[in-house]
Formats: sequence, C-alpha cells, structure tokens
Amino acid sequence: MATKMLQFVKTSGEMPAKRTAEIRRQDWLEVYGPYVRQKAEEQSSRCSQCGVPFCQIHCPLQNNIPDWLKLTAEGRLEEAYEVSSATNSMPEICGRICPQDRLCEGNCVIEQSGHGAVTIGSIEKYITDTAWAEGWVKPPTPLRERDQSVGIIGAGPGGIAAAEQLRRLGYQVHLYDRYDRVGGLLIYGIPSFKLEKEIVARRAQWLADAGIQLHLNFEIGRDATLQELRSRHDAVLVATGVYKARDLQAPGSGLKGIVAALDYLTASNRTGLGDDVPEFTDGTLNAAGKRVVVIGGGDTAMDCVRTAVRQGAVSVKCLYRRNRANMPGSQREVQNAEEEGVEFVWQAAPEGFLGDDAVTGVRAHSIHLGVADATGRQSPVVIEGSAHTIEADLVIKALGFDPEDLPTLFDAPGLPVTKWGTVKVDHRTMMTAVEGIFAAGDIVRGASLVVWAIRDGRDAAAAIDSFLVAKAAALAVAAE
Ligand code: SF4
Repeated sequence: MATKMLQFVKTSGEMPAKRTAEIRRQDWLEVYGPYVRQKAEEQSSRCSQCGVPFCQIHCPLQNNIPDWLKLTAEGRLEEAYEVSSATNSMPEICGRICPQDRLCEGNCVIEQSGHGAVTIGSIEKYITDTAWAEGWVKPPTPLRERDQSVGIIGAGPGGIAAAEQLRRLGYQVHLYDRYDRVGGLLIYGIPSFKLEKEIVARRAQWLADAGIQLHLNFEIGRDATLQELRSRHDAVLVATGVYKARDLQAPGSGLKGIVAALDYLTASNRTGLGDDVPEFTDGTLNAAGKRVVVIGGGDTAMDCVRTAVRQGAVSVKCLYRRNRANMPGSQREVQNAEEEGVEFVWQAAPEGFLGDDAVTGVRAHSIHLGVADATGRQSPVVIEGSAHTIEADLVIKALGFDPEDLPTLFDAPGLPVTKWGTVKVDHRTMMTAVEGIFAAGDIVRGASLVVWAIRDGRDAAAAIDSFLVAKAAALAVAAE
C-alpha cells in the first residue's frame, strides 16, 4: 500500500500530547505522551523525501530517516524498526533525549521552508517503543562464536554501543563499570522526566540476554590495572566518559549548600530508583523547600533546574553569563523549564557566595556581550558596578565536565593523554599508543552528546574488529 508522502502542505506538525506544566511539576514522568498509531503515520507522511536529506546529514549516526518515515507512513512498522536500528544501538533513547532541534529536526528541509519540521524524534520513539512492545527487539544471535574477547571499560552509551556491535560479530564481550548499574549518565545523570529508568534497565537486561558479561562495581585501578585487563582480553576499549566536574573558584565557594550538578542529579536518580541516599535524606542534595540557584546554561543545568522544581524548591533560578540565543542547552529544554516555573537570569555571572557556614546568596554581576571571539561567540564582559545579590539556600554548579586523570586512576602511566586530559588515539584506528587498547566517546572527544558517544562506540567496535581479524589472520599464517 503506497501512502502519499509530502503531506506537509496540508498537515501541520504535531508533537505527541504534552502534559501540562502543572501536572509535570508533581511527578517524574516523561513530558510527552506517546503517539497513537494513526498520528505517527500521519506525521511521518509529512516528510518530503528529500533527495539530499539534511535530517540524515546532520544526524551523528547518519540515521536513514526518510526511509523509516516512509515505512511508518505506510504502516510497515517492523521494517521501520529494522531500518532505524540498523544504524542506532539505542533508538528508543535517542528518540527521547537527542536535542533534535539542533540536529535532524533543526535541519529538516520543511522546517527551513517554514512548514515546521517533521517530528522525527517522537516518531523514532514511537517506532522503537512499538518494537519493544511487539517483541521485535531481539538480542543478537551471532552467525558464529569467536574465541577472542574484548573488555570494555564504561557501561555508558559509548560502551553499550560498542558491546552490542562486537557481540553481533560473535566476540566474547565483557563490560566493566565502576557503578552498580548499567547506563552511566543514562541511569544516574539524566532525570527520569526525560528518560524513564525502566527504559535503561530494559536495555541493560537485553545486553545480558545477548551474552555480554557485565562486571559492575568494578573499578579499574582498584580491582585490576589497565594492563591486567589488557592481558585478560584480546582488546580493550576505554569508554569511561568524562566525570570531573568543572569547579568555580570564588570567595565563599567552600560554603555548605554549594554542590556539583552530577552529585545532585545522581542523588535524585538513585532516590527515584529506591536506593538509600543519606545526602538526599539529610537534605544536602535535596532542593525541597529551598531557594535554588543553578549556575550554567547547558543541558545538565536544565536537568538540575527541572529536578529542583519537582523536588519542591521554593524558587529556582538559572544563572547564565550569556543570553538565550547563545546558550549551549537545547531551546526546547529551556522552554520546558520556563513552563515549569524556572526563572532565567541571563547575562549574569557569580563573583562570590555569601553566608557564614551555609550559603545564603550568590553575589553576581551583570554581563555585557562584547565582540565575537575566534569561535564567533560574543565574549562576556563584566559591567562595572552591577553587582547584586540573589538569595539562595542551595547552589548547584553545572559548569561542564573534564576528563579524570586516567593514567593515575587506572595505574597506567603509559596511557597517552592530551593536554586536556582526553585519551590520545590514532583517529584512523581509534587505538591508543598501547597496542590493543582503544578509546572512544567523551574520553576522546571531550564532553558531548549521547548520540555522538553511540556513534563513537560503533566506530570503535568496527576498528577493534579490523584489529582482531588481522591479528587472527597473522596468527594463522604463523602457525602454518
Ligand atoms: Fe523528510 Fe525533513 Fe528529512 Fe527532508 S529533511 S527527508 S522533509 S525529515
């Protein structure tokens, strides 16, 4: 049955029903409901099937979006799932948390022509949720088992993607993580109103069902050195992500009540998962009843402000030194936060914190955006005499992340790193200078999007496969 595409001329773009801000503030459920089938088909049929699909070009995974939109419009959902999952290890997660307004949807041709983008992310979510519900998401069954094993350090999106790809090829895959659950930032960093935790747990179970050996609570440097891990496996992939919070040195920055974003989000997510979190229970990492100020303008800052709203903060302000147009976070997230009652204090930066023992306020000055720097962004310049106080009982620093000191942490002084602390690789092979040790994701490129980590994990799996195939061939020749 052929379905007419190009329906954007008479059908408007429509996201799934959005729950009202008043209801959202009271719970931790996702913001958008699901599409019903007829709506998903209708919205997919708006696609103009571009000869040069800018949605796909701007997707880090190069997802074949026009094809799976057409299949969805035709009601061929299982085939749509096959196409969408061919390039993406976790489409149900990308559909929920990718900043589509900056990637596929932001570059959709009909968005550019003023008709409103195809709602690609919501359709991707619909396809994959249907696939899970219908039992189409099956663990990989390799054509043949291989003896060679690969150890992957980090069970976040990059590590998961690499593990899935390598297991499909038949390798014996061991996934190590220092935390007690699979998912990395997907489980402990991203709040459940963006990504409900059952979605991550379901994927973790799927990995185990695929025969991937999970080693949780396993810390490299404590439970094994990097070299020991290398001797256990034919190849090792470092996919730890970047976890060291950027700090803010200013008068009063050591006061109680000033906390790091990831500590705050982890406490909230763990509490939601039913864990006992003393720092949450004693109020240290709980915004209930407090005046909250979050410093930063990225997606992590947006996660913090919206978490604070749901915890019952008295007020939530977001302090950002640039303006709305120049903030790194998704505009869709800013809009959601504003609807939920967050106040944005644009062009303001902290110069210190007030309080005797615990913080009582942020001393901030206003910022003028001056001439553009080499990157094209306007430089923030402090306006003299503009200092003012914003009252606060809880200040959350969401200033970004840097790599940890892996050579020390892993007891691997020979692991080469850049001046920024990211792991140095040969970008053609994704291998470090240590034979058989590869690296991928944020620990190589610096803090970035989940979808880029998935891409890097998949690329690393392909590179490791090439390495292991060549190694096996060399051994076979030597044995002749
Ligand atoms: Fe369809 Fe938009 Fe992609 Fe063009 S850019 S193929 S209209 S989704």
